[in-house]
Amino acid sequence: MKLKAELFRLKYLCFNPAAFSAYNKLQKNQYLSTDEWETLRQSKTKKLVKAAFKCTRFYRKHYASAGFEIGDVEQPDFFHNLPIVTKKHLRDSFDEFINVYEKQYLSTSTTGGSTGVPVKCGYDKRYPTEALSWRTLSWWGLHPWDDGGYVWRNPRTTRRSQLINQALWWPTKKIRLDASSMTAKSITDFIKLWNKIQPPQLQGYVGAVVELAQYIESNNIKFHKPRVVWVTSAPLSSVQRGILERVFEAPVYDQYGCCEVSWIAAQCEQKDGLHVNTERVGLEFVDDNNFTVSKGEWGRTLVTRYDDFVFPLIRYEVGDTGRFLKNTCACGRTLPLIDQVKGRTTDTIRLPSGRILSGDYLTTIFDAYPDAVQSFRVIQRKDDSILVEYVHVAEHNLKHQRNIKQAEKTLRNKVNHDTSMSLERSSCGDKSDDAIWYVRNDI
Ligand SMILES: [Zn+2]
Repeated sequence: MKLKAELFRLKYLCFNPAAFSAYNKLQKNQYLSTDEWETLRQSKTKKLVKAAFKCTRFYRKHYASAGFEIGDVEQPDFFHNLPIVTKKHLRDSFDEFINVYEKQYLSTSTTGGSTGVPVKCGYDKRYPTEALSWRTLSWWGLHPWDDGGYVWRNPRTTRRSQLINQALWWPTKKIRLDASSMTAKSITDFIKLWNKIQPPQLQGYVGAVVELAQYIESNNIKFHKPRVVWVTSAPLSSVQRGILERVFEAPVYDQYGCCEVSWIAAQCEQKDGLHVNTERVGLEFVDDNNFTVSKGEWGRTLVTRYDDFVFPLIRYEVGDTGRFLKNTCACGRTLPLIDQVKGRTTDTIRLPSGRILSGDYLTTIFDAYPDAVQSFRVIQRKDDSILVEYVHVAEHNLKHQRNIKQAEKTLRNKVNHDTSMSLERSSCGDKSDDAIWYVRNDI
């Protein structure tokens, strides 16, 4: 184990030395005082808003239209008066979000259908996101180099891409079960490999990990117990938690993030709320008039991604509902606590052949074409048939139509003639930014 840790460190020191120094800093930060957090927040927001105003077309126009001037950043509570940013802004004005002086550092993420509204988002590719994940793993007694089993959609379908991925992760071993199409064979193959490697962590979409657990339990299969199970992409219900704890006999942790901002918050070993990664993310909860709600009250979630000046996201509405908790955590960390988010529940679709399409996967069917539709939902009818309803983008054109057809083709391949499937333009009208429900078993 010691050798593996050293090899892992050596690899990072050679290829990404910033990650370990960021990690060490994060480990110290988690015990800052309330005053220190507030000072940090003020300095980060001021710097970010100034840069966004000066270097992006979108924020210059957006803020100017609200009467905001650059000198206003000197006002004590300027930040909470800034107009919010919506998914519609991001979809309509993507290019205008890019910092004109730092475009060379831009990467894009084409995922994000988790709230039923696909979007494309940019980010600074230099940011050492793994440092945040390592800190969270440390809360659960895990190390950055620990092996893992992942129940996730698998973009690496060819042997070549799998080998490249293995080489990139070396010396860590990562095995995958494709949540986008779970069959008895794929689950059995995964379990065989799992028992051989015996990774300490099992991770994945909530619904898909629960399906795996139920399969293991109902077939009475031997499964090497992980030390930790962690799930993401949808709130974990108490029933689901019960199933996972019973089958895996390991603590189950909840982690919250989205494609626009990964690693927003996670439970620590106390499981008494989710700690917000405040160095990276500013969270706010607001009411219908966009006023901040009191601690303990539920509100619409706004996210500010600090330290990303390449593609600034400031007071961005992610489409979830959440709240800050009033309690402090017995672990001693001062990172603020939030409750589990609301608004992402998805059902699993089970085809007549027994093949399972994870609901969390189905929320991503338009991810490769985030400009093609405004919102969508997937419904399984009582007769097992599947209906995909979508709302056009306003400027719908031939390219969008082709992309929709392509997404339909991909899903048809997953369904694999197990049941009938149709795709329809929805009559639910212009839903603008409102996320509509996405995956539902119509029972
Ligand atoms: Zn804690």
